[in-house]
Amino acid sequence: MMPIQLNVSTMLERAELFYPRKQVISRTLNQVHRLTYKEIGERTRRLSSVLEKLGVEAGDRVGTFAWNHHRHLEAYFAVPGLGAVIHTINIRLSPEHVVYIINHAQDKVLLIDEDLLPLFEKIKDHLHSVKAYIVMSDSTEVPSSSLEPLYSYEALLAEGDPEFQFRKDIDEYSPAGICYTSSTSGIPKGVVYTHRALVLHSMAVGLADTLALGETDVAMPVVPMFHVNAWGMPYAATWFGSTQVLPGPRFTPEVLAELISQEKVTVTAGVPTVWLGLYTVLEEGNYNTGSLRAIVCGGSAAPPSLISRYEDRLGIPFYHAYGMTETTPLVTVARLKSYQQSLSKEQQVELRAKQGILVPGLEMKVEGVNGDVKWDGQEMGELLLRGPWIAGEYYLDDSTDHIFEDGWLHTGDIATVDPEGFIKLVDRTKDLIKSGGEWISSVDLENAILDHEAVFEVVVVAVPDVQWAERPVACVVLKDEYKGKVTKEDILSFVAPKFPKWWLPDDVVFMDEIPKTAVGKFLKRRLREQLKHHLTKPS
Ligand code: ADP
Repeated sequence: MMPIQLNVSTMLERAELFYPRKQVISRTLNQVHRLTYKEIGERTRRLSSVLEKLGVEAGDRVGTFAWNHHRHLEAYFAVPGLGAVIHTINIRLSPEHVVYIINHAQDKVLLIDEDLLPLFEKIKDHLHSVKAYIVMSDSTEVPSSSLEPLYSYEALLAEGDPEFQFRKDIDEYSPAGICYTSSTSGIPKGVVYTHRALVLHSMAVGLADTLALGETDVAMPVVPMFHVNAWGMPYAATWFGSTQVLPGPRFTPEVLAELISQEKVTVTAGVPTVWLGLYTVLEEGNYNTGSLRAIVCGGSAAPPSLISRYEDRLGIPFYHAYGMTETTPLVTVARLKSYQQSLSKEQQVELRAKQGILVPGLEMKVEGVNGDVKWDGQEMGELLLRGPWIAGEYYLDDSTDHIFEDGWLHTGDIATVDPEGFIKLVDRTKDLIKSGGEWISSVDLENAILDHEAVFEVVVVAVPDVQWAERPVACVVLKDEYKGKVTKEDILSFVAPKFPKWWLPDDVVFMDEIPKTAVGKFLKRRLREQLKHHLTKPS
């Protein structure tokens, strides 16, 4: 018997078959759409058929440049359904990087949101592989534009075949998707997701001890669909027949709060900056969030104070998870074990602010200077990973082979492991502060400073120092009501009891804003650059 091949389109077929009446609720620029999985299925098949007519063949790349909405979801299945590869492009990349990755991936067709079209008019002459543009909007009209040929998504779908059959002769190791790391440094690198990786990762998202996504959920991925497939949530939610809420373009914390309360969202996922913003809105108490069983927070460390605020003040369970573009992304989730439930509140938060334990299916090692680190929660080393949804290479790039040495992904994340196997990231290799030959964790300092009631955001970076090689400097954004009222000394004396003296930042720089990457993470590299003479300059 031929071995059965895992195939992305079977996940949608299951939703069509068993959950035809369940809904995908999708916010676009003009309205909120409610489509059933039966309708999504038909529209996806129509899309596959029109892409095929436009010349898309197995192995070709089709790019998307879009927010989180139902058309993007349709592309998630329609493109791999043809044996082609969906390339989700980060809409916040610089125009130069957008050009670079489209040319690198050799995208044949681009699906672009109406409001994002102007960028392409500027860069079109630099795109070498694109044969057709499709504008995604609620209208069947083609907007006037210098892009050519330009089609309307809805007009094309009207002519498509609602019974188109997805390809079933696809090797499960063939690519279904590609995402470039938004890259806090250097040139973006393409990470390819195979059919096998996407299906197995979706299964992992449904496990009871990870995110436990299931049919009864109303799942709202806030993390962008252009960033690591919105952490795999749309694929898994479709497979399991969960109701999905896709928050669409340019949402605000108020929009998210409204969707949560109106659509009775049970689980949502995003980066800490999103949850910080939402908290300030929910705190006022005008929204009903009783349906929420889990906020999943990843992409950057979840500060313990954020976990406590959501859980103690709002009664919303808050889960910390870790992953990266190269890992599809789910790697760890911080959930307490049965016998840890009786620990003190403080100990529980401390554990849950760690990145957590490895999800089933993956393997890990943490390599320190003397080989594998002891699981003592102290010794630091680089986290290495392997497993069915961990990348083994970057797309068409062998200059980075060392990152995948010996079959392990070298994450560049420095971690400790406690005796229970909970990993705690203390830094990225490039963000570590090496003072006098010893490592200082910027993350620990940031968490401590963030506990100060006046602090809105904080980043601690390494700044060159003549005596110690590097020293920590804290960059702090104060809450509006505290601006001008809090001093460097206030902050330092607040954290001093928690650390050895030599860990304390040499300076606190107050800022109006901290620069962020395309996905809302703090851009430490920019701050390091900005502050590189800070400690050597005569003050
Ligand atoms: P990049 O930030 O390079 O664009 P990714 O989005 O793939 O790309 O980021 C992955 C990195 O983000 C990880 O290697 C890790 O450093 C950081 N990260 C992700 N989740 C967490 C988390 N829960 N806690 C701390 N850091 C995290």
